[in-house]
Amino acid sequence: MEVINGHKKWGFQGNPELIASSISVRGVLTKLMANRNKDEKRPTIPLGRADPTEFPSYRTTPVAPDAVADATYSYNYNCYPPTVGIAEARRAVAEYLSKDFPYQLSPDDVYLTAGCTQAIEIVVSVLARPNANILFPRPGYPQYEARASCSKLEVRHFDLIPEKGWEVDLDSVEALADENTVAMVIINPSNPCGNVFTYQHLKEIAETASKLGIFVISDEVYGHLAFGSNPFVPMGVFGSTVPVLTLGSIAKRWIVPGWRLGWIVTSDPNGIFHQSGFVECMKNFLDITTDPPTNMQGALTQILKHTKEDFYSKILTTIREAADILYDRIQEIPCLTCPHKPEGSMVAMVKLNLPLLEGIIDDVDFCMKLAKEESVIILPGVTVGLKNCLRITFAVEHSALEDGLGRIKAFYHRHAKKE
Ligand SMILES: *Cc1c(COP(=O)(O)O)cnc(C)c1O
Repeated sequence: MEVINGHKKWGFQGNPELIASSISVRGVLTKLMANRNKDEKRPTIPLGRADPTEFPSYRTTPVAPDAVADATYSYNYNCYPPTVGIAEARRAVAEYLSKDFPYQLSPDDVYLTAGCTQAIEIVVSVLARPNANILFPRPGYPQYEARASCSKLEVRHFDLIPEKGWEVDLDSVEALADENTVAMVIINPSNPCGNVFTYQHLKEIAETASKLGIFVISDEVYGHLAFGSNPFVPMGVFGSTVPVLTLGSIAKRWIVPGWRLGWIVTSDPNGIFHQSGFVECMKNFLDITTDPPTNMQGALTQILKHTKEDFYSKILTTIREAADILYDRIQEIPCLTCPHKPEGSMVAMVKLNLPLLEGIIDDVDFCMKLAKEESVIILPGVTVGLKNCLRITFAVEHSALEDGLGRIKAFYHRHAKKE
């Protein structure tokens, strides 16, 4: 190979973290989609990713596109925004979240991001100093792991306990943390488990993190999508026990994941994020990254203020009924068990009982063959940290969900171990 100035010409090396590209949800789903039988006449049932926008029952409220149109046609939002977000939108988020808080958030506590995905990127990048480590849940949301590895931030995993409704194993949190631990992440309502933490459990998490001197990052992208017996309680309620970074977005509750609008909120009445220098560091990061589009920021105030209660409740009913269908149909498929009935988010974790199956070696094999034979897409558990489990999205049209679960049942009977 030609060598110029000591470099091999075109000798691409790349970031090893990206070449090693462990496992991303999108990467796995692309492989599953490609594995479908080309001659399949039946429609594909997408139970792999939580994006129900193609289904009429999950259409957003007209308040949302109206708000975007109003903001755009006002011509007031064609400028670059301030890197922290425009003032009125920050105020709107502070007011929206404060309704569930025992104290009032200030607009200055709010930083607007390009979806919750960028919120994760920002928070992880800001925390990633040399030798630091961070605690993530297992199972979890692999975007966190991917971001941490790109930032060379060491990851340690604590377990969520299925028998206890996927609560955090706080003993494992205590055992993992040391003087270099910077934060722990919780996702509530949970993706991938579909549970909702109780007030009491959140309080225990706050007390544990406070004792260990670590921040809590609470991913509440599914905030308010709780339809079981546990009401949604934001972690920021415990902001005076432990400093909390609340991450959120409009992607899930308003079902507009393509709109790329989210936030980071410092839920911290004692001002520890300011005193510790975290806020300054985060602002410096915001200055070198991109912002959510200004017209979307301009629309946010109307979206948060004018969305009607009946939109929220209609979506919640649709998702609750879907969760019921999933839970009931799973009972009829012997190779699957659902350890905890889903009560929040749009997804559930299901255990795969491999000994009941013939010629299926693991969860990935199950999902690949299911895609090929039935055109049903579900996510192998290993992608979210639990081998031989499956993550199933139930936020699809009810008829599609029935169809998909019927096909999984037929798949089971074809592959069941003979007595
Ligand atoms: C969907 C999701 C995100 C990303 O949200 P966007 O606003 O679409 O970027 C982050 N965290 C969890 C747990 C999610 O399910």
